[in-house]
Parts: sequence; C-alpha cells; structure tokens
Amino acid sequence: MHIHAAILWEQGQPLSVEAAELDGPGPGELLVEIKAAGVCHSDLHPARGDWAMKVPVVLGHEGAGIVRDVGPNVTRVRKDDHVVLCWAPACGVCPPCKEGRAVLCDRLEKVTYRNKLPSGAARLHARGKDVAPFLGTACFSDFVVVPEEAAVPVPRDLRLDALATIGCAVLTGVGAVTNAARVPAGSRVLVIGAGGIGLNVIQGAAIEKCEQIIALDLRPAPLALAKQFGATHCIEGTGVASTGTSTGLSTNQRLPSPVHDVPAAIRELTGGRGADFVFDTVGSPATLATAIACTRKGGAVVLTGLSRQDAQGSIPMFPFVMQEKRLIGSVYGSGQPLKDIPRLVSLYQAGRLKLDELVSRTYPLDKVNDALAALAASDGARGVIRW
Ligand SMILES: [Zn+2]
Ligand SMILES: [Zn+2]
Repeated sequence: MHIHAAILWEQGQPLSVEAAELDGPGPGELLVEIKAAGVCHSDLHPARGDWAMKVPVVLGHEGAGIVRDVGPNVTRVRKDDHVVLCWAPACGVCPPCKEGRAVLCDRLEKVTYRNKLPSGAARLHARGKDVAPFLGTACFSDFVVVPEEAAVPVPRDLRLDALATIGCAVLTGVGAVTNAARVPAGSRVLVIGAGGIGLNVIQGAAIEKCEQIIALDLRPAPLALAKQFGATHCIEGTGVASTGTSTGLSTNQRLPSPVHDVPAAIRELTGGRGADFVFDTVGSPATLATAIACTRKGGAVVLTGLSRQDAQGSIPMFPFVMQEKRLIGSVYGSGQPLKDIPRLVSLYQAGRLKLDELVSRTYPLDKVNDALAALAASDGARGVIRW
C-alpha cells in the first residue's frame, strides 16, 4: 500500500517525509494505522548520529493506533483493536523471558535492536530501497507492520495521543520505580532530569506514596511540571557535582536557584542522610557522579537514562563498598510490557496516572523535524506527532 513516512536517509540530516510502500502483514504480524507517536530522545540520538545506525530507517517507537489487518497465526490481537505499541516484543521462550524478564529477551538483541522484524521480512520500501523499521515499530509513519508481541490492546474510548506515551516514557519511568527499584512507601527519592522519563519516575514515586520526591534539573520549566507530577521539592542545579559545605537551606518547597552543591542540598533535605533512591534519567558521567554522591548509606542509584553509546561513568569505589550503595540499570521499566502496559492504562482510567498533562506539543507528521528540534531544546514534557 502507498503510505507516507518520515525517513532518515543520512544521520545528522533532517528526516524526509515522503511517499513509501508498505507490504501487508505476514504470519504473526499486524498492520497498524498510527494515530499518535511520541518523540523521544531515543529518536533524537540516531537522528543526530549519537548512535551509529544503518540508513535508510524510519524512526519512532512510542506509538498508538488501530489494527487494520492481521496476518495468519495472530491470536492475541484482532482487527479494529486499539493498540499501544511496545518496542520490546519478547519471544516468550528464551531464558530471560522464562525468568519473567521480558525486556531482556534474547531476540531483542538479535532482531529488534538491529531494526528488523522477527520474521526477517523487509516490509517498508522507498526510492527502490528497503527501509529499516527502528526498533521494529517505526511509527513516524502512517501505517506500520509489527509483530503481534509489539501491540498491546487498550480500551477504545481512550485518547490515543495520551496513550502513545505509555509505550516508552511512561513505562520506562514508572517501571524503574516499581519494578527495578521496588521503592517502598515512605521513601525519599531524588530524580535527576525532569524530562519525559523523569516526570514519569516522579509520578511513579508519587503512586508508591514516597515521602519526599526531589526533582533536579538545570532548567526551570521542567521543574514547574515536576511539581504537577508529584515532586515535593525542586532543585535547579548548575550541572556540577560537588560535596562541599552546607548551603544553609531549609526544607522549603523551592530552593534558591541555582544550587551549586547538590549533594549538600540533598543531605539537608533528608535529615543529613541522603536519598534512599536516586534515579539518573539523564545518563551522563556528571549526573551519575551526582547520583552516587546524593545516595544515602545502603541506598541505590537507578540508572535509566540512555547515554551516548561510548559514555563511561566512574565510581568512588572505597565509599561505595563501605556504605553498601547499589547501582541498578533499568531498561524499559524492567518488567513485562505486555502486563505492565494494561496496568498503566488502568491507573490512567482511575485518575492515578497523568498522561494528558505529559503531552505539551502536538505536530503533524510533516513537522517531525520541528518536533525533534523542540525535544533537543526541551521544556520537559512530550511532543507527540498526531494524525
Ligand atoms: Zn525471549
Ligand atoms: Zn523512547
């Protein structure tokens, strides 16, 4: 069929929205008409060339739409179902899948992270070439063909542009709190970065009834949003980690800004102890250093921000051992997306999960480059492509 898709022909260059050809679904596959697609840093990284990637490719991995056709042997999803796309379609039979760790499925490394469908088929073509589907979802496109495991049916009365964000940012942020860290109620939590993932770590911590939820960002606008999502304190940092003397701060709601010594500010807010859990949603060597310095004895750092591929952080090893700190990596919510996504939809229906507030800007597909540019200069919330 004839469609339009935003194709990356060369990394570092704008996407080109143009005519393309999409083949119908094969066995175990679905044809989905995309209605909304969130714009995530994991689209920006390959677009800018931070992550090397074979082109041409259609980006987009945070999508929602309507199933228009199903191939043979599809059992779980039906034509006309509304679905949220999952960019980690697990095989269900490998050792990590059997352990219940679907996001670590062996098939993802062999297939999905190489921008291929599990069937191995090339379904998308443009200018006489095969075009790779980013993470097998490629939802900066009118229609996509995805494996059945990449689609999660959702109720038809809910807005698809709000639901799209569940497919990456919301699951990643909330799951880091509930699945990776298993944060207990009453905890004191620091969240570094109040972007798409960070805001969802904050609302995950609020859902788990954390006592203190401290948001740290370099920009004032995301911090204002962080309050809406449940942050009890906001700190505007300077991007420099240090562990100097007292800042003389009281536990007021908004700290004098910018704060130069973030670890000292966190200690003051937490009765001198440091945070029980620190979530680094930025993923730079500097934020990791800040995260470790802000964590209390026996506390944990959860690293969920995707860095550049070549980023190396360092750890002060002696205090890390003596203070029994822990470092946890968390990808895509660390759970089972096919179960976690419906649970998140239920929380949204119950008014306990903010999704509409997460969408601050919408764009038509042919403005996708504006959406990526706005993300690069982000105010924290999500831009969504809407059809
Ligand atoms: Zn598997
Ligand atoms: Zn993403």
